[in-house]
Amino acid sequence: MQKPSTIAIDGPAACGKTTVGKLLAQKLGYRFIDTGAMYRALTWEALRLGVDIDDEAALSDLADRTKMEIPAGKDDGMLVNGRYISRELRSPEVDFGVSPVAKVAGVRRVLVRQQRSMAKEGGIVMVGRDIGTNVLLDADLKIYLDVSVEAQAKRRYKEMVEQGEKADYDDILAGLVRRDRIDSKRSVNPLVKAANAVVIETDKFDAKGVLNEILKVIEGK
Ligand code: C5P
Repeated sequence: MQKPSTIAIDGPAACGKTTVGKLLAQKLGYRFIDTGAMYRALTWEALRLGVDIDDEAALSDLADRTKMEIPAGKDDGMLVNGRYISRELRSPEVDFGVSPVAKVAGVRRVLVRQQRSMAKEGGIVMVGRDIGTNVLLDADLKIYLDVSVEAQAKRRYKEMVEQGEKADYDDILAGLVRRDRIDSKRSVNPLVKAANAVVIETDKFDAKGVLNEILKVIEGK
């Protein structure tokens, strides 16, 4: 295959798409955009300002008013109205609130518009839930990373322990199942496999292994 200029990677929570997306972007010299971080940043801003995460009109209005930027060379965090946040994006409160915020049509309209604009020059790896099915319908390459719930929970548990955070396996599992259920059942841009996506089962591989599988697809092996 000709080297793809726009690459969409979708999949459920904790399927490894952020790590793999970053590795792929580094390898190709492309820009990496984690769209999940944008929904998380908006959720964090809503919680900070006391906006009710069930108030769709208030959330849509907040999305309109919130300036979000990914600072160059700092792809772990976001600038939200000029304030840099990174660890906050993964807090338990944001984990809990993000799927209800992301299902609001007015929120998605604003964020999807920004994501399309970020991708228009090409040379991009964009990861999320609806990149191949909505944001970048014409992406040159679409990857869907599939994973079992056990592998999701183990991966998130390991990450939290490595970062010195308090982790409870059963709580993590329940949180991931809840989030994936909301993300796949919502009426606007739910998480589904694009018909033309290449599906990779990530249980079988570590991040480098998944990267190799994607590189094989690109090299046509
Ligand atoms: O990828 P991550 O798990 O950080 O995404 C956090 C949440 O953001 C998801 O659970 C989902 O609700 C939302 N999201 C989305 N569409 C995207 C990316 C993320 O709805 N393209």
